[in-house]
Amino acid sequence: MFMNTKKEISKICEHCNQNFSISEGELTLYKKVGIELPTLCFFCRIKLHFSFWLFGKFRKGTSDLSGENLITVLPEKTRYPIYTLTEWHSDRWDAMSYGIEYDPRVSFLEQLQNLQEKIPHPHQNGSKNTGCDWCDDVWNSKNCYLSRSMEGCEDLLYSYRNLWVKNSIDVTICFNSEKCYDCGDCHHSYKLFHSRHSRDCIESSFLYDCRNCQNCFMCWNLRNKSYCIENVQYTKEAYEEKLKSFSLDSYKSIESLKKRFQELAAKEAVHRENFNLKAYNSSGNYLVDVKDCQNCNTVNDSEDCANCIRGMKEKSNIDANGCWYTELSGNCAGCVGGYALRYSAWSSSRYSEYLDLCIECEYCFGCVGLKKKKYCILNKQYSKDEYEKLREKIITDMKKRGEYGKFLPYSMSAGPFNFSTSFLYFPETKKEDILKFGGYWEDVNESHIAGMPTRELPDSIKDVSDTIVTQALICPETGWRFNVTKNELIFYRENNIPLPRYHFDVRTKNHLKYLTVLRSYTYKCFYCKKDIMAYYPPEWGYKKIACEECYKQNIA
Ligand SMILES: [Zn+2]
Ligand SMILES: [Zn+2]
Repeated sequence: MFMNTKKEISKICEHCNQNFSISEGELTLYKKVGIELPTLCFFCRIKLHFSFWLFGKFRKGTSDLSGENLITVLPEKTRYPIYTLTEWHSDRWDAMSYGIEYDPRVSFLEQLQNLQEKIPHPHQNGSKNTGCDWCDDVWNSKNCYLSRSMEGCEDLLYSYRNLWVKNSIDVTICFNSEKCYDCGDCHHSYKLFHSRHSRDCIESSFLYDCRNCQNCFMCWNLRNKSYCIENVQYTKEAYEEKLKSFSLDSYKSIESLKKRFQELAAKEAVHRENFNLKAYNSSGNYLVDVKDCQNCNTVNDSEDCANCIRGMKEKSNIDANGCWYTELSGNCAGCVGGYALRYSAWSSSRYSEYLDLCIECEYCFGCVGLKKKKYCILNKQYSKDEYEKLREKIITDMKKRGEYGKFLPYSMSAGPFNFSTSFLYFPETKKEDILKFGGYWEDVNESHIAGMPTRELPDSIKDVSDTIVTQALICPETGWRFNVTKNELIFYRENNIPLPRYHFDVRTKNHLKYLTVLRSYTYKCFYCKKDIMAYYPPEWGYKKIACEECYKQNIA
């Protein structure tokens, strides 16, 4: 929260009808960026922005340009054509050929949506990959499968939001790690399994907030230890002997160990009020190397920002979500390399408003899929003078209709809300609420697909036969089909890990539950009893939450 709240403005959110306030600090930044004040509360803004970022089900399809086969997370039924990424970036089509004349009698955003529906989407996001066809948002990676949002990864399966991770399965938001399994927010680790918020750990399982530990099992808040179980020190021999008694090859044992892990996290572990590192005059969570950033989450190397979720190298941005290398921009989603960009999605452009999928454009207004253009409106070329005049007229018309200053509507998002990044942050969202705002929802029913219910799988990995790789498995939660690949089976056997029972997207979402909390709650520091704000929902039942100073004194 901003310190100075003297000139706070109070508003009612147009979507959820809740009161929200705009602080003096926010007002200063809104003015600096030059955007209209929000009509939605902080959470409804993020919800809308991240609905433009799909977390879709992987599927096979074909290019609407060439008929070439492709694999995409874009839905089967789309409002727009899909081209392969290479085709999309080629000169085999021209976004300018879809340009339309502005019609002052019709809502501008309606005209923009009509245009948007004619412009193709690239089937995948990313570049410089080998063997990553079954992936999305993938950069400089090799041989990854059914994974999304990663850079510099190799041999990664069923994973999400990882950097420089190799030979791992089911890892979420992990960096610089190898041979890990079922981990969330773990860094610089090797052979770390079933762990959360841990760093520099080797050959360990069920660690919560541990650092530099080796051969530890079911521990919390440990530093520089080996051969510990439930934070009790053992000799090497006693440790190995005791470990055998846990039957780690059995799915049933792993399930009860996971319960124990949660129990210990709730009752015994000391939790930091936030996971910020080198955050000066800032508030939020998962902030690293930031200065003057307020109410931000998962932001690195940034300054003078407010209300930004997931970003890097941001400067003077407000309400910019999923924006990297972007400056002086606001009310934007998924924009990389933007400057003075407003009310835009998926665009790397400057001095522009209401763009979608525009690359390296300048002084454009309401355009889709353009590359390196200047002075365009609705994908139509104008002279500088004409552009400025028409832009002014459109803004005046939009203001009359109450459209100007709002982000693109839900109806312009790329697919169903329940298959978007937004649903990962707001899984409680109801279908009717999204349909009411013009958004999309898709109920996927795969009950027609034959497969083995996972309850029929052998409990122990030791009893799994080679033929399992040919068997379709059915997830008990979603009814969706999934498989076990050959390399995956080898990994499980090598590491004595039982087969998963749930679809990989369910597994990822289970990790994310603990890593995507945007709301802070009031607690008293477990040690000094001062009031703190922490990102742990009360229903998790965490007993020991500490302020930064006390955490450092007692744990780190
Ligand atoms: Zn709201
Ligand atoms: Zn304290």
